[in-house]
Amino acid sequence: LLQKEPLVTGYWHGKAVGIVELLTLPPEVHTTSIRSLLSVSNANVYSLLSHSLQILNSRREHAFCGCCGHEKNVKVGEWVMVCPECSHHAYPRISPCVIVLVTKGDEMLLVRHHRHGKQSTMHTLVAGFIEPGESAETAVHREVFEETGLTLGRLRYCFSQSWPFPHALMMGFHAEYESGELVLEEEELCFGGWFHRDAPPDLPPKFTIARKLVDLFI
Ligand SMILES: [Zn+2]
Repeated sequence: LLQKEPLVTGYWHGKAVGIVELLTLPPEVHTTSIRSLLSVSNANVYSLLSHSLQILNSRREHAFCGCCGHEKNVKVGEWVMVCPECSHHAYPRISPCVIVLVTKGDEMLLVRHHRHGKQSTMHTLVAGFIEPGESAETAVHREVFEETGLTLGRLRYCFSQSWPFPHALMMGFHAEYESGELVLEEEELCFGGWFHRDAPPDLPPKFTIARKLVDLFI
């Protein structure tokens, strides 16, 4: 049973593909989580899934105007939602974040987050949202200082990854440690420490930007 008309979000080998929202699932339909699909997909499928998921979320989030409350319309040929009353335009939201591999000689800085649960042994990188008015580079320096008390030397942008939970764009950096002792921001982090490149602990899965940044070094 279709809830709405299918929405074409892209093309795959010349054929239109998109999203269909279902009110009920036919018993023969097999379901899986988006996260698990992202983990096994190649870069092109990942991009298509990430795009489709964010367009779907945008249609939901911007169904009504944030300025005047009127129901919004889809602008044909674009992803923007437009208010017929006050012409407010709402583009799909993209939230830029920085994520940074900090190294000191042969060691790298890894942290564990409370949000991953006490049982988790996965170590990852310092990351955070870019604030309004801030450059990505400034955000790297600020996030690392706020979360670990360290200051950074040379900084290099590496690559980025769309992370559709719900609409982050992760911008990956490599930074060299400059000064300071580790002082953890304890509300967010439950552990932080230096690991030799030859003896990494449990790391995030291969498809994540955190792991791709670590893999540049180990
Ligand atoms: Zn409006």
